[in-house]
Amino acid sequence: MNMLRTIQASCPYCGERQRMEIDLTEGFPQEFVSDCTVCCRPIEVTVTSGSQGDPVIRFRSEDDTA
Ligand SMILES: [Zn+2]
Repeated sequence: MNMLRTIQASCPYCGERQRMEIDLTEGFPQEFVSDCTVCCRPIEVTVTSGSQGDPVIRFRSEDDTA
């Protein structure tokens, strides 16, 4: 069983599609920072469990946490 899930979401800074892998064996919630491959700014990624057990991804800019 593959516990790596590839997810896609838009960068909160430049809006470009980002693709990244998350490890479902880590459990939920997960929080980590991934630099945008286009604008290189740090995206704060939050992964939580949805109602069907599927990962729900949220991208935030650093500005949102101030
Ligand atoms: Zn970007």
